[in-house]
Amino acid sequence: MIRLFQRLRPPGVRIQLMLWYTIVFALLILFSDIVLYTQLRSTLIASLNTALQLRSQQIASGISNDGASITIRDVTGDLSGSDTIAPDMPDASIDVDFGSLVRILNSKGQMLRISPAFRTLIVPPTSVMQSLHGSDWQGNVMTRDGQEVRLYSVPLTENGTPFAVIQVGESLTQVNTALRSLFLELLLIAPFILLLGAVGSYWLGIHAFAPMNRLIQTAQRIKAGDLHQRVPVPRAYDEVRALALTLNEMIEHLDQTFTRQRRFVADASHELRTPVTAIRSMTELAQLKTLTVEEYEHTFDTINKEAERLGHLISDLLALARADERRVMLEQEAIRLDTLVEAVVANAEGLALERGVSLQVHASEPITICGDEARLIQAVINVLDNALLYTDAGGQVTVRVEATSTHALLTISDTGIGIAPEHLPHIFERFYRADPARVRKEGNSSGLGLAIVEWTIHAHKGTIAVESQLGLGSTFIVSLPRVSMLSQ
Ligand code: ADP
Repeated sequence: MIRLFQRLRPPGVRIQLMLWYTIVFALLILFSDIVLYTQLRSTLIASLNTALQLRSQQIASGISNDGASITIRDVTGDLSGSDTIAPDMPDASIDVDFGSLVRILNSKGQMLRISPAFRTLIVPPTSVMQSLHGSDWQGNVMTRDGQEVRLYSVPLTENGTPFAVIQVGESLTQVNTALRSLFLELLLIAPFILLLGAVGSYWLGIHAFAPMNRLIQTAQRIKAGDLHQRVPVPRAYDEVRALALTLNEMIEHLDQTFTRQRRFVADASHELRTPVTAIRSMTELAQLKTLTVEEYEHTFDTINKEAERLGHLISDLLALARADERRVMLEQEAIRLDTLVEAVVANAEGLALERGVSLQVHASEPITICGDEARLIQAVINVLDNALLYTDAGGQVTVRVEATSTHALLTISDTGIGIAPEHLPHIFERFYRADPARVRKEGNSSGLGLAIVEWTIHAHKGTIAVESQLGLGSTFIVSLPRVSMLSQ
């Protein structure tokens, strides 16, 4: 049995909604029916009470007390056929629905008048006792054959002392019949309302989920591979709209990632093919004809350079691929940025000399940061190499290390060729070269250098920015958190 329940699938949202609505409807109907029934019952009883009070007042107007005896005049006609004493056995043929129900008692509780129908009632003695003590009594009593009657008992007083009691009654058959038929009608109507409610809530469920269905259909088309599609965004500000917007954002992100990935693979293959083609053409040439010793030396030298380029490219690609997969574990050691930069600059002096560029460094104060020394050295080399290589002979490259209260600032500025404004936002992209015609022949240009720099700086919770003017030079500003900030 438990297995069967486990295997049964939970009902869908629409069915759940329908069930909840139906339960709520059923409770509402029950509540409103109870209110309606009790309200009607108390209204009917109240009007019956009023009628009985009126009748007793009319009967009382025909009763007078002269001290010694009580005179009764039948002003309402209710007392016709009434007796002064009750026979032992009431007449069974008398119906309380038709005959008038009146009884008059004196202050000793002795019967003065009783209508034939009244004799069939089982009257509680408290009704008489309470009236003889001067207060009204009203309540439901039964006939001997089980019919319900509303009874009203009122004292007649003279100088505040009761001298007689009038008891009038009215059958409750009509009231009970009206209430019973109302009860039956409500009982009959309730299932129809419930059914209507259930069908209506199911239909509402279908209607409410229509935008979701449209989302699902579009999402299925997107699953089939068309990442240019977007799910329809409903105009109403609700959860479906929020879901559609989130889905669209996600698809947009996926689309961009896939496009970037495709371009990266295409660019990478292209970049890898160039040195391979160069190496192959060199070796083919060497195979075809006999070369002089100098020619062989030149060929091997070129092959070596291309292989070196290939090696650099492959290690750059590997670094970025690892970074993408978030597989890179950064060392976290305290590093003196000023000494690190000075060492990199000292190392680059040879290249600066070769290119006829003046290289200066200003790193006077000790600044400590936390991070991976090898990667930071590589990042500084990449930016500094670019500055030296994109600056013509006679130009100047200045490296500065400064500290703010929270950050270390590394500025590398050159008086080189500069970067055009349209290229500036893209230079950190992979394989992006602002001016392919000016790709440095002597360097290992891959178009990946700045992409790696940006990743390294961001991985150290830092920022990198560039300012440049075409023909005037460029300035790269790197900001890294100082140790005191990181330890907070
Ligand atoms: P590359 O390996 O080609 O230098 P990078 O990612 O290091 O690739 O740089 C991307 C592009 O940014 C370069 O091709 C170059 O056009 C431009 N660039 C970078 N640094 C400078 C600079 N200091 N001056 C002028 N252009 C630069």
